[in-house]
Amino acid sequence: MKALCKSEPREGLWMTRAPVPEIGPDDVLIRINKTGICGTDIHIWNWDEWASKTVPVPLITGHEFAGEIVELGRNVTDLEIGQRCSGEGHLIGRHSRQSRAGKFHLDPETRGIGVNEQGAFAEYLRLPAFNVVPLPDEIDDEIGAILDPLGNAVHTALSFDLVGEDVLITGAGPIGIMAAAVARHVGARNVVITDINQARLDLATRVADVVPVNVAQEDLKGIEKRLGMKEGFDVGLEMSGNQIALDQMVENLVMGGRIALLGIPPGKSPVDWSRIVFKAITIKGVYGREIFETWYKMIAMLQNGLDVRNVITHRFGVDDFEAGFAAMKSGEAGKVVLSWR
Ligand code: NAD
Ligand code: ZN
Repeated sequence: MKALCKSEPREGLWMTRAPVPEIGPDDVLIRINKTGICGTDIHIWNWDEWASKTVPVPLITGHEFAGEIVELGRNVTDLEIGQRCSGEGHLIGRHSRQSRAGKFHLDPETRGIGVNEQGAFAEYLRLPAFNVVPLPDEIDDEIGAILDPLGNAVHTALSFDLVGEDVLITGAGPIGIMAAAVARHVGARNVVITDINQARLDLATRVADVVPVNVAQEDLKGIEKRLGMKEGFDVGLEMSGNQIALDQMVENLVMGGRIALLGIPPGKSPVDWSRIVFKAITIKGVYGREIFETWYKMIAMLQNGLDVRNVITHRFGVDDFEAGFAAMKSGEAGKVVLSWR
């Protein structure tokens, strides 16, 4: 089969031929139809310090996918051949305290497909049946291929009650933009999204009813005044990994405000803790999706009017994967989807 592989420990990815994976008794084989390119895949392409410490070579990359089940392991009784699906790319252990308590997303033994294990950028993927998420007819394969990052957005946005609240999202990357759409969908009052990249802010307004703020040019306080907010935002969703954005968020939150942090800073970043203490702010770190609660809620919202399709800005056949990665690296794209069939 065709597979997009990290074949050598240097910059790039290569289209290779690999054997179709053999499945175990508890696995399924999925024929891949569409995949999404993630920021993680760019780190792996660039072979930065994180990637070279984390990713074994050779490895088939990719973890955002949708496809169809074509083979069932002998113990798999609750799925069918022909079932369209996406799936959770975090493979969890069953031994940790958290896992045994049913909090699968907190399992410290988690391994990621396309990062630690063979991934989804291939014609076929082996996945534990446990990780499969069937797709209803209303959710097509291109949306199916972006459910992993939509799940990050949903997990973060639903960390705190947003009904009637004023929400500040820092970072209008694909995940920040999708989080804005979720915040709107669940009934936030004002949703303000910041970035320093105007193209991304423009994209945000094509996906959700949000107030875009280019913080390189505009002051947040002025926007708050315009929106009639007196004491600041109730909830902050940090989606940039940028220190300045986090400082700005703390500065513009109400007393007792709440922050969900998804963005990953490039290294250690200093935090003004006394500001957090005196403002009585609650901070929650968010990792991945809440397995499988996020998947249930996300699919239900998509079936009930949540629309994130406009976040997909580029579509390529997989033979043009280099163009897809170039679009991602330009910093102007939303989600880039590759077709495998
Ligand atoms: P992205 O890099 O595409 O988007 C980040 C955006 O932040 C960019 O548009 C950038 O211009 C903007 N930005 C930079 N400085 C800013 C500032 N001072 N103020 C406001 N915006 C600023 O990332 P993405 O794919 O949308 O992912 C969002 C973040 O979430 C990333 O940091 C990513 O690494 C992280 N992430 C975390 C998890 C997790 O499990 N915790 C999972 C996926 C992604
Ligand atoms: Zn991803």
